[in-house]
Amino acid sequence: VLKERELIRRIRKMAGAHQRQRRAWEGHPVVAGIGDDCAILEMTAGHEALVTTDFSLEGVHFRREWLPAREIGRRCLLRGLSDIAAMGGEPLAAFLSLALPRSVEQRWLDGFLVGLLKLAQRYGVALAGGDVAQSPGAVLADIVVVGQAPKGKALRRSGARVGDGIYVTGALGRSASELKAFRGRGRPRHVSLAEPRVEQGQKLRGVASACIDVSDGLSTDLRHICEESGVGAVVEAEAVPVAQGATLQDALHGGDDYELLFTSAKPVPEKAAGVTITLIGEIVRGRKLELVDVAGKRKPFEEKGWEHFRR
Ligand SMILES: [Mg+2]
Repeated sequence: VLKERELIRRIRKMAGAHQRQRRAWEGHPVVAGIGDDCAILEMTAGHEALVTTDFSLEGVHFRREWLPAREIGRRCLLRGLSDIAAMGGEPLAAFLSLALPRSVEQRWLDGFLVGLLKLAQRYGVALAGGDVAQSPGAVLADIVVVGQAPKGKALRRSGARVGDGIYVTGALGRSASELKAFRGRGRPRHVSLAEPRVEQGQKLRGVASACIDVSDGLSTDLRHICEESGVGAVVEAEAVPVAQGATLQDALHGGDDYELLFTSAKPVPEKAAGVTITLIGEIVRGRKLELVDVAGKRKPFEEKGWEHFRR
């Protein structure tokens, strides 16, 4: 059983140890992190702050039986980094609020933090604060990530226009196909490591007219772009890049892939920072989302995103 003060000391020590490994830590925008009432971040001149918050709730977003603690910690931060990536931003600092039930052992917490901090380090992000509490039941984690983008240049969901191409980075459906495997076997044999498309998002500034990360599934996230932009969309099922081992249905509706879904009227490069970009459809007039299936038949592109999909 971990006491609150002990817990904070432990997190601070682990965060500090990871951060010191970064040689270029001097000049980082986190002026003060854990240890004061607030963190102090120095934003670059001419930039705007981006702030995102994401829950990772045991039983809702993850199961302790299915994933190692490290992967749960990693995914907790991944969700926040992916949101910054979707805006074309540069992540700067993360804040973690964590509620743990009494039954959680120190070993589990250490694994969770190692997974989270390794990913943070990889993307130059400091764990700059947070909160801890005891949970009556499940593990509850809330991550806040602060980033920045040049003023007026952040990618929004509302910029899609009629005639824009619809594009996606990488391939879709991997997480959904793995989830089915967990259900079948009870334990994953192999867990793929999705990466936040941070570099790719930054490369899309000035190219993408609208952008979102695929966290809830293509059919749901494309709807978000269409709703915010006041447009419709037609997607070619045959063009959608399906991840190895996944089905087309996984790719169309499965969540947690963290690829970027964007629209553009401009010439789009074949790759962004080493990741393939695929044209999957077109923005059209109206509000309807349609799917041209593999037989060439047009039908409504129904929403079977994460919420619906996992039931
Ligand atoms: Mg998002």
